[in-house]
Amino acid sequence: MLNLKDLTITKARGAMEKGEFSAEELTRAYLENIKAKNPELNAYLTVFDDAIDEARKIDQARKKGEKVGSLAGVPIAIKDVIMVKGREVTGASKILKGHIATYDATAVRKLREAGAVLLGMTNCDEFAMGASGENSAYGPTKNPLDTSCVPGGSSSGSAAAVAGEMALTALGSETGGSVRQPAAFCNLVGLKPTYGAVSRYGLLALCSSFDQIAPFGKTVADAEAVFGVIAGHDPLDSTSRDGKWQMANGKSADKLVIGVPGDLPLEGCDPRVIANFKLQIKSLETLGYKTQDISLPNLKYAIPVYYIILPAEASANLARYDGLRYGAHVDGANLLDDYMKTKGEGYGKEVRRRIILGTYVLSAGYYDAYYYQAMRVRELMKQDFARAFEIVDAIIMPTTSGPAFELGTKSKRSPIEMYLEDIFTAPANIVGVPAISVPPNLQIIAPHMREDVLFQIAKTFLGEK
Ligand code: GLN
Repeated sequence: MLNLKDLTITKARGAMEKGEFSAEELTRAYLENIKAKNPELNAYLTVFDDAIDEARKIDQARKKGEKVGSLAGVPIAIKDVIMVKGREVTGASKILKGHIATYDATAVRKLREAGAVLLGMTNCDEFAMGASGENSAYGPTKNPLDTSCVPGGSSSGSAAAVAGEMALTALGSETGGSVRQPAAFCNLVGLKPTYGAVSRYGLLALCSSFDQIAPFGKTVADAEAVFGVIAGHDPLDSTSRDGKWQMANGKSADKLVIGVPGDLPLEGCDPRVIANFKLQIKSLETLGYKTQDISLPNLKYAIPVYYIILPAEASANLARYDGLRYGAHVDGANLLDDYMKTKGEGYGKEVRRRIILGTYVLSAGYYDAYYYQAMRVRELMKQDFARAFEIVDAIIMPTTSGPAFELGTKSKRSPIEMYLEDIFTAPANIVGVPAISVPPNLQIIAPHMREDVLFQIAKTFLGEK
């Protein structure tokens, strides 16, 4: 029996090279765990029937001495908002039930080329809208560390799959913390890459100016390994960019300066989060980092800015699910009635709420008061971060304002309470900079294209080599 608990990509790679176990054995071990645990955790919506075959191909290539990719034989789970050719992709929505992807997302193509073994599609909040995993049309996912609690969201299933030893690593997607927050709730590492660093081709669009495909890892090195494979320019995504992620500034860890915002909106924070954060600042200092007070005066507007821009873009992006082109269709008396019935029955409550909000803030009478205003504050936030990064190499703050909460608590109360989950994560998406969450609940943010700085600080912090 393989010990999956302590397994990382780095260890699995080494063990498979030495012949300690095969990709097939490793894949079987994960599939067995999925079989045993998924009925309770509800992390996967689809488990692929060809995973064993794919793993065997890797084993054969290895046996023949062929060159294999950097993720050869690594079993990975894919959030159900990312296209995998020939597989159902639903965004955990009823409206896309039965929709089969006709092509691979660029990130998926790259994973295949690197030899990763795709295990299946994971549950999530409908169209990635949510912070608990409870907005899925296919039932909530439970946190493997405590099944009375949510795993976080929206990439709930991907986080639960990795934390529950049902995948070695996973892809999620980030629009406002959907990988970092579940990573924090499930004791994992979650990376939100620089906007444009990973192609969005083949990702169901939620908020195009925030969206990024993003990896989970049990370690920083694991998240880095997956990021290294999926990152890079893609001609199929006009917003994707080229970049170098080496230590371009050549500074050693102990020369990096870390900014601590003095104006963090801590009012609604659990006191344990504040105490933990203070300790983390001390440990970073003990590790040799210089810390410096900085100011991000517009951080307090992150939630209103996010919840104006996101619904605005989402309402436009989701217009395409009209019952005629993709997935579900409900017949009405005429074309308009078809639309109304399909969307009314196909979308869940949160999705409908955001479409209504989005069309409202974009409507002629309110555009200036809401959308335009939010875009102006977004610019101010970008300037705040740019100014801060003139004096510091990275910025830290907590990932979440509290620990994983019980299923059914926040979702039953006002939606605003759920929105406040994103208070510390939304800023990086609004500004487009990369950010990483490492246990317990520490978020590190770096300038555009400086994922290398994140990996360096995060590894030092966790004592990883
Ligand atoms: N909680 C955020 C939201 O509900 C996160 C979304 C995301 O990152 N996909 O919009």
